[in-house]
Amino acid sequence: MCPRCGQVDVRAEQVLLHLLEDSLDGVYSFVCPACREGVEKRADQRIVSLLISAGVAPGDGRRHPDGTRPAEPDPRGPIPEGPPFTWDDLIELHFLLEDDRFLEELLSGSA
Ligand SMILES: [Zn+2]
Repeated sequence: MCPRCGQVDVRAEQVLLHLLEDSLDGVYSFVCPACREGVEKRADQRIVSLLISAGVAPGDGRRHPDGTRPAEPDPRGPIPEGPPFTWDDLIELHFLLEDDRFLEELLSGSA
């Protein structure tokens, strides 16, 4: 369905389906063959399975509108600022963790 032209015929390979994370829903988009406008619609679980059974391959949902993929996030997370953690730091932390007063201050948020 195009919001401007109403019912239009779109082939499965012209439909982009993005599944939403943490949900069985998705968003599908296509270019209307009549008015050449991009159409994007929310697809509930029923429509998603309908589209897939019609031959639409679901994308990973992370594609940008221009078709490029964003850089994969580093699984190690952002690199923390400051110097690397050394053995000396570890030993110092070890003693700090044995210090009840330090822990108390740390847990109370005043350290
Ligand atoms: Zn249209």
